[in-house]
Amino acid sequence: MPLKWVGSTTASFPSAVEGLLLQPAIPSNRAVGDGIEQSAFSAATRVPVRGWILCCNVRTITAIITPGEKIRADTRHHHTQEEKALRAAIIHAPGDIRVENRPDPVVTTPTDAVIRMVATCVCGSDLWHYRGINKVKGPAPIGHEYMGVVEAVGDSVTTVSPGDLVIGSFISSDGTCGICTDGYQSACVERSFVTGAQAEKLLVSHADGTLVTVPGRPDKSLYPSLLACSDVLGTGWFGAVAAEVGAGKSVCVVGDGAVGLCAVLAASQLGAEKIIAMSGHSDRQKLARRFGATDIVDARGDEGAAAVKDLTGGLGAHSVVECVGTGESMKQSLASCRPGGHVGYVGVPHGIELTGKDLFGPMLHLHGGPAPVRRFLPDLIDRVISKTIEPGLVFTDTFTLETIADAYRAMDERRAIKAFISFD
Ligand SMILES: [Zn+2]
Ligand SMILES: [Zn+2]
Repeated sequence: MPLKWVGSTTASFPSAVEGLLLQPAIPSNRAVGDGIEQSAFSAATRVPVRGWILCCNVRTITAIITPGEKIRADTRHHHTQEEKALRAAIIHAPGDIRVENRPDPVVTTPTDAVIRMVATCVCGSDLWHYRGINKVKGPAPIGHEYMGVVEAVGDSVTTVSPGDLVIGSFISSDGTCGICTDGYQSACVERSFVTGAQAEKLLVSHADGTLVTVPGRPDKSLYPSLLACSDVLGTGWFGAVAAEVGAGKSVCVVGDGAVGLCAVLAASQLGAEKIIAMSGHSDRQKLARRFGATDIVDARGDEGAAAVKDLTGGLGAHSVVECVGTGESMKQSLASCRPGGHVGYVGVPHGIELTGKDLFGPMLHLHGGPAPVRRFLPDLIDRVISKTIEPGLVFTDTFTLETIADAYRAMDERRAIKAFISFD
């Protein structure tokens, strides 16, 4: 049986190399192209084969990349005019982002969709890799926030069609399991983390459960705000909902990155009476005010918690949204919450250690995790289209895919709050 490359055209790679690459990794009773599951492989997500690396997501092989120069030389050599390749950001090592040619993604399972990117961006969580705090298993595609036009769908996809402008969450979900129907799509039994969105095209699994169509033909000026729904707004919104933000309540937001600022916006939309933004940067304080913050606290630690208590009748905030993920920010969040209050946390935890006493004595509720952005997407898109909210203001700088390394640098050095990648 001839080998067929998943996620690419066979012609993108020399057939000799293709056979060499795939043969050892394919179970004898399956052909690549059948939607080989990761469990079919003996190794985990990355299978080194003679110096090449086969990349898989949870269900399907998505890409092939090699370390060093070899792939680029080979790809260039075998690339012809009618063959397709796309440009994509690849992280090689901390601080080392390059834009390279990769195979064109294709639909491989009936629930897949391929989208052509209209807008993407760099996320604060990409910086965990860029700064080497998270191990870089590079070279690897990167990026998980996306808006694009559907190019192709699998046979069973019914809710989106080629030509639709769509936004999806950074976690794909089937939309049908009991966890999805409970509204926790980011913990779907079929979930897989989207990566490789900083590219001209993206393969999205479980398209029906993951993608939402943007109605009409929105003006391009709305693209930044629409893209913000894909992660930062959805995440900030979930943080506020997890913290039980509601009418008449006091809210404290810890973290003044794009997610924190969007949590301020969410608190304002959800009717909070007092919204305290903890921020030490004047540009971010200004945006927090614009998004609805009523008070700014720039102190940290005990002094910061005391300032929050002063602003809330000595009690602490009803709701605290933790948007950083460090031990220090979690401590700050717990200390700023009143007894019986709710802390919603959406910062990816790095070095957070809690004991029972941290929650028991102060009688605090704690709820968070990777945001089920899909739950909120239709509502958030409506609010953007109707110009009720403008979360796109968190994008302070615009770059192209080819200059995305500069976008990473600008965010790493905190010159940009968030970097928008335009495909115009
Ligand atoms: Zn993100
Ligand atoms: Zn599900």
